[in-house]
Amino acid sequence: MTKRVGFIGLGAIGRPMAKHIADAFPTVVWNRTRERAESFAAEKGAREVGSPRAVVEETDVVVMSLPTSAIVLEVIESIGEVWREGQLLVDATSGDPSGAREAAAQLSKFGVGFVDAPVSGGTSGAEAGNLTVMLGGEEPWVGQAREIVAAYSSKVVHVGPIGAAHALKAVNNALLAVNIQAAGEGLAALVKLGVKAEVALDVINSSSGRSNVTENLFPERVVSRAWPRTFRLALLDKDLSVALKVLEDNGVPSGAIRTAKEAFAAGRKALGEEADHVELVKEIEKAAGVEIR
Ligand code: NDP
Repeated sequence: MTKRVGFIGLGAIGRPMAKHIADAFPTVVWNRTRERAESFAAEKGAREVGSPRAVVEETDVVVMSLPTSAIVLEVIESIGEVWREGQLLVDATSGDPSGAREAAAQLSKFGVGFVDAPVSGGTSGAEAGNLTVMLGGEEPWVGQAREIVAAYSSKVVHVGPIGAAHALKAVNNALLAVNIQAAGEGLAALVKLGVKAEVALDVINSSSGRSNVTENLFPERVVSRAWPRTFRLALLDKDLSVALKVLEDNGVPSGAIRTAKEAFAAGRKALGEEADHVELVKEIEKAAGVEIR
């Protein structure tokens, strides 16, 4: 029988993910700002309801895409006891491992499964339906989650037990943050001493320092001065906190990631909650007295 899927959190990445879900399954949506859910429902022919509880009542599997695990736990609490045995929560939030374990423990009281299923590939990957999805959890839930996340992904990897996918996602994003900071600092210096940013990037991108940051983000967002807002810096700052805790809990050195955390926390304070993650480079440019072009 076709599963009925609920989607909670129609934000920058949740909305395009939910579009693919609605193309593949009968879909029920809820969003905190109701107008966003109403416009989504009107556009996609999905059903929009007034509470997370109503989503759970009307569906078999629920996907959440929310800022943090703390908010996922609040929403689970607001749902109360309407969960039915055999239902599944697929948590597409970039959350934290302990939050995942707490959510799984709450849901297991009702015989409900939990899989942490954060995504990578950005809003463009979500639009295209070719995100990478990491899964943390146990069978049979992981197999059931695969059927659902297939709607918006091109690569799905079961990485370990509950919480392991959130840990992996946080480490991935910490690497993104370290790269943004390091590329910003290095390129600011090169431009100041007279090397054009495009020339520096051309060389770096055929050398060992290249990364997604130098190959895509800097040309498309910094050198172009386009600064699109697709992934909030505040969320990357949150990911850095999660990554640091993962490192700390496992007793490994954390110097590079700690330095990035300090820079992004300061950037968040200076630029606000709506700034894009790449806008950290604006702070580096300001301090260096140069524009990376
Ligand atoms: P946004 O800030 O754009 O959207 C957040 C969503 O969560 C909105 O639907 C918002 O509702 C809802 N929300 C926020 N606070 C609450 C709350 N207290 N109770 C209920 N709902 C709430 O975030 P993104 O869509 O960018 O990110 C969602 C998750 O995906 C995050 O964990 C992020 O780290 C991760 N992610 C994002 C990527 C990206 O490129 N944007 C890439 C990969 C992962 P409302 O509409 O009312 O504000």
